[in-house]
Amino acid sequence: MKIAINKAHFPVTVLGPGRRIGIWVQGCSIGCKGCVSQDTWARDSSKEMTVAGLVSWCREVSAGQFDGITISGGEPFEQPKALHALLDGLHYWRNSAGMDFDILCYSGYPLATLQKRHADLLQKLDALIPEPFIVNKPLTQAWRGSANQPLVLLSDRARARMQTYVDAPIDEQDKRIQTMIDGQHVWYVGIPARGDMQALEQLCASRGLSFDSVSWRP
Ligand code: SF4
Repeated sequence: MKIAINKAHFPVTVLGPGRRIGIWVQGCSIGCKGCVSQDTWARDSSKEMTVAGLVSWCREVSAGQFDGITISGGEPFEQPKALHALLDGLHYWRNSAGMDFDILCYSGYPLATLQKRHADLLQKLDALIPEPFIVNKPLTQAWRGSANQPLVLLSDRARARMQTYVDAPIDEQDKRIQTMIDGQHVWYVGIPARGDMQALEQLCASRGLSFDSVSWRP
């Protein structure tokens, strides 16, 4: 089974509790206005890798020293068979190694749609942040881009770890953005406040540094 991946990174510390493995899938047809991840929209078979290879990478990069896995995108539920396979592989790893990491997944689809179409996938998650990003709703809660997006706890593991984040207002810690450089690209992980990316671009331009292309506009 293959899965199209935009990127994967470890450690991610701004999308869920603790030190996490972050997996961003490639492909999203939802098209939320103001999405800062437009580089993940196109379907692109050149970005496919095997699910087994991705799980092996997770094992190697984390060396078992992590708290959870965050799956985002892109739209994970637009690759349902691959997501099934990935979650099965992560469950097998967690169970066979006696580990206790949680699995948090983002989706731009409404919760009711996911419950109707993908109840079997939801059973394999610990937590879910559904609903489309709505640019004119405020950013008020940790790990979420707009106030319409709930944090849905689906397991006892998630209820023990994340209950305090469900309704807690965002604080300074929750506003962190991670920056990564891979030799060719600079990329940011986290939930930027409205206008942050444009402000960053303007600041760089004022110092003579221009961006070739950015993910927050076409
Ligand atoms: S915010 Fe998420 S669901 Fe919405 S267009 Fe961007 S990648 Fe897709």
